[in-house]
Amino acid sequence: MSFLEYAPAPESQAILNLRSEYGLFIDGEFREGHGTPFASISPATEKHLTTISTADGADVDAAVAAARRAYDRTWSRMSGADRGKYLFRIARLVQERSRELAVAESLDNGKPIKESRDVDVPLVAAWFFYYAGWADKLDHAGLGANPASLGVAAQVIPWNFPLLMLAWKIAPALAAGNTVVLKPAETTSLTALLFAEIVQQADLPPGVVNIITGAGATGVALVGHDDVDAVAFTGSTPVGRAIAKSVAGTHKKVTLELGGKAANIVFDDAPIDQAIEGIVNGIFFNQGHVCCAGSRLLVQESIHDEVVDRLKSRLSTLRLGDPLDKNTDIGAINSSAQLDRIRALSDIGEAEGAERWTAECTIPENGFWFAPTIFTNVSTSHRIAQEEVFGPVLSVLTFRTPAEAIAKANNTPFGLSAGIWSDKGSRILAVADKLRAGVIWANTFNRFDPASPFGGYKESGYGREGGRHGIASYLKTAAPAAALEPTRKSVTKGAAK
Ligand code: NAP
Ligand code: MG
Repeated sequence: MSFLEYAPAPESQAILNLRSEYGLFIDGEFREGHGTPFASISPATEKHLTTISTADGADVDAAVAAARRAYDRTWSRMSGADRGKYLFRIARLVQERSRELAVAESLDNGKPIKESRDVDVPLVAAWFFYYAGWADKLDHAGLGANPASLGVAAQVIPWNFPLLMLAWKIAPALAAGNTVVLKPAETTSLTALLFAEIVQQADLPPGVVNIITGAGATGVALVGHDDVDAVAFTGSTPVGRAIAKSVAGTHKKVTLELGGKAANIVFDDAPIDQAIEGIVNGIFFNQGHVCCAGSRLLVQESIHDEVVDRLKSRLSTLRLGDPLDKNTDIGAINSSAQLDRIRALSDIGEAEGAERWTAECTIPENGFWFAPTIFTNVSTSHRIAQEEVFGPVLSVLTFRTPAEAIAKANNTPFGLSAGIWSDKGSRILAVADKLRAGVIWANTFNRFDPASPFGGYKESGYGREGGRHGIASYLKTAAPAAALEPTRKSVTKGAAK
């Protein structure tokens, strides 16, 4: 227990007017779904927040039909400049309602308010502003000859960054001239439904954006629908694999953003204070529910003990608790199912011989919580070094030479992201070039910008979100867009295979 105590500083929930029930958002209005409604709870308290409709097959048909009508009659005929105006309007409305959206996100997802307020929601607005700017420039930006929209996009997103993943999906799709049907994750549908209100406020033509709620079965019906032209999925690798199989041999264009097991590589010449903060941000941001989390720390052997000692003392200062408290660093785990998975994999790590250390902190009585945990003496064959824990659990491995660091970093079925910490720019470039990861951060971690493409290799999926590459996923062109090859060498190598 630290001698520095903070008084509670809870963000008020008064700004949020939750309805007791939410329907599906189809063709510009809310309507009840035909499936069995489900409850949304706060993972921090297990308290009921609201009841949400489930879309069955007929509702999915209705949503896709509404998107098709809107595509044929309005959206695909509108000029890019006019589409851009709607996207700018959405971006400004997100900013206007940012406090309310942040409170809703923290309540429903369990993430600390300082993250939803300072990271998630500002990035949501940034994504809409950025792609609003693209809408009228598609013909002049090296996207190939006569780039054209695809049609109706089916989009399925996970629970870890609910509103941000929605923005990553909807903003480029609309800018490119497509209409969308999006399904949020069952445990975090709330901000997608508030976004539906924003769509109404922005006066978007009915059917351009449709939000349908429900569990996995709703997602299956949506991506399998014959009348969708694009499938964009973010979630787990097993579900991504099932989707890839189900759309194989159809006309549907697919992007998959899947799991990760990133290496965060710390060389002995790294700025240690910064590196410690970067390691903490890499794996304890958003309770470690981050696909690109730096879940494997690869630290040079000569500084291992120092780094681990400093990490432990830093983790002992993190405050775990009420996600709505402005001082909270570690919020709630999103669901009891995810908590079970984190516990099970951590127990396996211990059984396999890794050494477990957990920060001392008071766990609230209700809700789903997992204290920040570090495993040392981890070897590459351990399951906690291979599988995605998707929780606040760091596996520490060591290396002696850059070649060993690279070999260990690449020893994973995934390839989403990586971090390199070193004082030497030449070393950073040389190592980055040999890492099979879509995104590489140098002397920082978990930074996102709408202008920068994001995506994976291997079992982390294919396709890129963000930047010019992100909009290309929602376009077809008469001739291939040669200029679109990624510029970074390691990305180019992978994309060519
Ligand atoms: P998930 O189980 O794959 O679910 C993702 C979404 O797909 C949810 O909306 C889910 O609905 C739906 N779904 C489930 N089964 C489906 C099926 N057979 N067909 C169509 N849709 C289906 O993943 P999760 O547990 O929610 O999310 C965690 C995973 O997402 C992690 O592996 C993480 O790495 C990955 N992720 C990747 C990125 C990235 O950009 N690469 C970003 C964030 C997360 P319900 O949840 O309602 O059942
Ligand atoms: Mg919830």
